[in-house]
Amino acid sequence: MTQKTLPFSKAEIEKIIAQYPTPFHIYDEKGIRENVRTFIKAFSWAPGFKEYFAVKATPNPHILAILKEEGCGTDCSSLPELLLSEKAGILGEEIMFTSNETPAAEYIKAKKLGAIINLDDITHIPFLEKHAGIPEIISFRYNPGPLRKGNLIIGDPVESKYGLTRPQMFEALKQMKEKGVKRFGIHSFVISNELNSESYVETARMLFQLAIDFKKELGIKLEFVNFSGGIGIPYRPDQTAVDLTALGQKIKAEYKAMIIPNGLDPLKIFAECGRMITGPYGYLVTTAIHRKDIYKQYIGLDASMANLMRPALYGAYHHITVMGKEQAPCDHSYDVVGSLCENNDKFAINRELPKIDTGDILVIHDAGAHGHAMGFNYNGKLRSAELLLKEDKTVKLIRRAETIDDYFATLV
Ligand SMILES: *Cc1c(COP(=O)(O)O)cnc(C)c1O
Repeated sequence: MTQKTLPFSKAEIEKIIAQYPTPFHIYDEKGIRENVRTFIKAFSWAPGFKEYFAVKATPNPHILAILKEEGCGTDCSSLPELLLSEKAGILGEEIMFTSNETPAAEYIKAKKLGAIINLDDITHIPFLEKHAGIPEIISFRYNPGPLRKGNLIIGDPVESKYGLTRPQMFEALKQMKEKGVKRFGIHSFVISNELNSESYVETARMLFQLAIDFKKELGIKLEFVNFSGGIGIPYRPDQTAVDLTALGQKIKAEYKAMIIPNGLDPLKIFAECGRMITGPYGYLVTTAIHRKDIYKQYIGLDASMANLMRPALYGAYHHITVMGKEQAPCDHSYDVVGSLCENNDKFAINRELPKIDTGDILVIHDAGAHGHAMGFNYNGKLRSAELLLKEDKTVKLIRRAETIDDYFATLV
């Protein structure tokens, strides 16, 4: 079970809305900091542990700067993400560049920044060499194919476009060794939004075993293994968050059983979590502007799926709080909808909620990752502002809302 709480009261959010009209996203700095500290502490036993925050989850340099202060690097997959990282002062091997179908210019920038480049395919070795040169450290993304089962969001690894096969991994490391590379890492991302921690332990075992096999067969001792992201969050109140401390201990046991006896210690452990770091600490704040009774009862919001696409994209559940009605009985069933001319623009379907009146403030939970970031301009929707609720409870605008001028700016 998860208590769906808010870091602000009704009076506090009304004061914020007086300055910044809805809809907007607001991030809770205190929540983000405390959470990431717990995560890093859970792996304090691991030599050189580092979390490379997946920038795509919340691509705002103000958020990146907070995470940098907590000791995180960034996981980037495009040129603009590399530039965001640079803006936040996260440079060199604090950047993991995990891209796919990568344009040459992006490899050139990643190499210039000194990022750790994580190649998605064996053919990218000559491509990288030609355009950017061979770096001093390299990583490869492993796709275990039929050796692993994926989960709902990410799907079956055999159907996944990412990574190298097991034989290609051996060949790629061999080729890079021949080219003079001395520092190696491996990466795999097969699970997404997963709440069962056993899946991560399995990823750890899978990569540890690969590290053992590389040492035996190629004489290569890896510098790091990167478990990537995918730790889920309890979007539903009846779900429970992954116990990060327990997860750290389970992986420690595998490290002791597999890495130490095989002479691979110290082997650095890296993660690239996004969702779990910021997801629960971001909220989409919106106003109910219409009520409609036809065959069903609808609540129309001033936000739409352009502000938060997950419900429309995956049928994802996002908890909703009606401000000031937290204790009221949930005796109404509503479809809570946005204004796009798309009938899947629904934040909730048949949701049991208290009676909602126009003017009520609705807060949509767990929008801190893959929320604003997935925004778009379809139907002439303008992207909303992003606010930071600081630890001292003051609010800072960290991205202004788009204007009509922004919308017209790219037209020739
Ligand atoms: C999306 C992504 C992540 C982060 O995934 P979360 O589910 O947000 O933790 C990490 N690495 C790569 C390569 C990704 O594409």
